[in-house]
Amino acid sequence: MTRNTLSEARTKIVATVGPACEDEQILAQLVNHGVDVFRINSAHGKQEDFERILGKIRRVREQIGFPIGVLLDLAGPKIRLGKLLNDPMDVEIGQEVFFIRGSEPTTPNELTSNYAKLIDEVGLGDRVMLADGTISMQVVEKTRDKLRCSVTVRGTIRSRQGINLPGVSLSVSAMRPEDVDNALWAARNEVDFISLSFVRSAQDVLALKNLLASMDGQALVIAKIEKREALGCLEDIVDAADGVMVARGDLGVEIDVAETPVAQKRIIQVCMDKMKPVIVATQMLESMHHNRRPTRAEASDVANAILDGADACMLSGETAIGDYPVVAVETMNRIMLSTEKMLKDQPAPAKTRFFSRVHPVTSAVTHHAANIAEAIEAKLVVVASRTGGTAWVKAKQRNYIPTLGISNSDPTLRRMCLFWGIMPHKVDQLDNPEKLISDVTHWGKSTGMLSAGDRVVYVTGTGLLNNTHNLLVVNEVPAD
Ligand code: PGA
Ligand code: MN
Repeated sequence: MTRNTLSEARTKIVATVGPACEDEQILAQLVNHGVDVFRINSAHGKQEDFERILGKIRRVREQIGFPIGVLLDLAGPKIRLGKLLNDPMDVEIGQEVFFIRGSEPTTPNELTSNYAKLIDEVGLGDRVMLADGTISMQVVEKTRDKLRCSVTVRGTIRSRQGINLPGVSLSVSAMRPEDVDNALWAARNEVDFISLSFVRSAQDVLALKNLLASMDGQALVIAKIEKREALGCLEDIVDAADGVMVARGDLGVEIDVAETPVAQKRIIQVCMDKMKPVIVATQMLESMHHNRRPTRAEASDVANAILDGADACMLSGETAIGDYPVVAVETMNRIMLSTEKMLKDQPAPAKTRFFSRVHPVTSAVTHHAANIAEAIEAKLVVVASRTGGTAWVKAKQRNYIPTLGISNSDPTLRRMCLFWGIMPHKVDQLDNPEKLISDVTHWGKSTGMLSAGDRVVYVTGTGLLNNTHNLLVVNEVPAD
């Protein structure tokens, strides 16, 4: 079996790589069932692990002939517990534990962390949450070298568990030394997307962008929204980033979980307004870690993310450590396909929407290309793009007509893997319109997508003909 571009969802699927799917054959199956981008989580593993995984993804790309994007997820200022004296340790409501300085607890109820200033920056009355928010405690006394905490929600504490400090502003820098190292690795290895965890400000995003620029790195920077602080300056963060992730795992701990559905809608809306790709992440098909079928609520979650306007949905543990990685991807793709049918009949907005950093000609031409395609019942829209920009503008103007994104550049095609509704397809060259049309016609006929008499609308980026802006051409597929 190979990837059947024509039966895949418009909404893109990001799948996290881990022990459950690292095998090359399983990775290939995931791609054939609809994965567009693989996520490598830098919180688990070292550069030699990333290298091994990337090597496998490259081989799968060649084997299947599909570009497949790669996203490296940087852990950012994620704060973790240090080593416990008794690991694991159950804590009960009302039990007292102490955060101390350093990394050497002397009694079982002493906790340490990887953030040296934790004791200075957490205050009396603040909440400290562990294990994805399942354990909660409150600071009841603060002295120079100690925080006394009383457990309010019981659970099992383990070494290196993540710590969330809802509402606490930390002075920790946006990237730890290992994040810098990993970002440089990503730049050297042509990784397509780099996401940064726990972004708090546009400045955090720019720090990563500047680092990449110093290496001439081309990766798109994805800001993970998972702090209340980030919601406070969301517009600026979205402006600074190339894309956004609604990181609901930590967000649902940092803010009240009851607020996350509305936060998700707001984040997606801001990305719509500012024309940035947005990924909805975490627990989308959570129960499929151990089940072959999702819950009704999970199916609705994927569908609602699409209706909100998400460009991509992400699988985390479902593919990384779950029992049914392939079934999870197949299920997600199926939910997407059923949901997207609803979008089919939605009329395109009559007026072109203009965006601050997109040339108005590009906005107008891509928008009306879809209108023309609809009016003449075209079978296909083709967007020719050098850097992916024009394809991206087209993607954000949702339209159900199958759309091929063509380029002669592999990095551009891999970027398109995150762009809603764009099927990436490689051509030899972009600057010969006749050759380009004949390449696409040949592809269309060989896949059964096009036959004689079908109409195809072509949109190109700027500069394909001398002194032109975007070019729009309608072609009727000739008989053989
Ligand atoms: P993580 O990010 O899985 O790296 O924590 C996603 C999230 O928090 O939802
Ligand atoms: Mn997170």
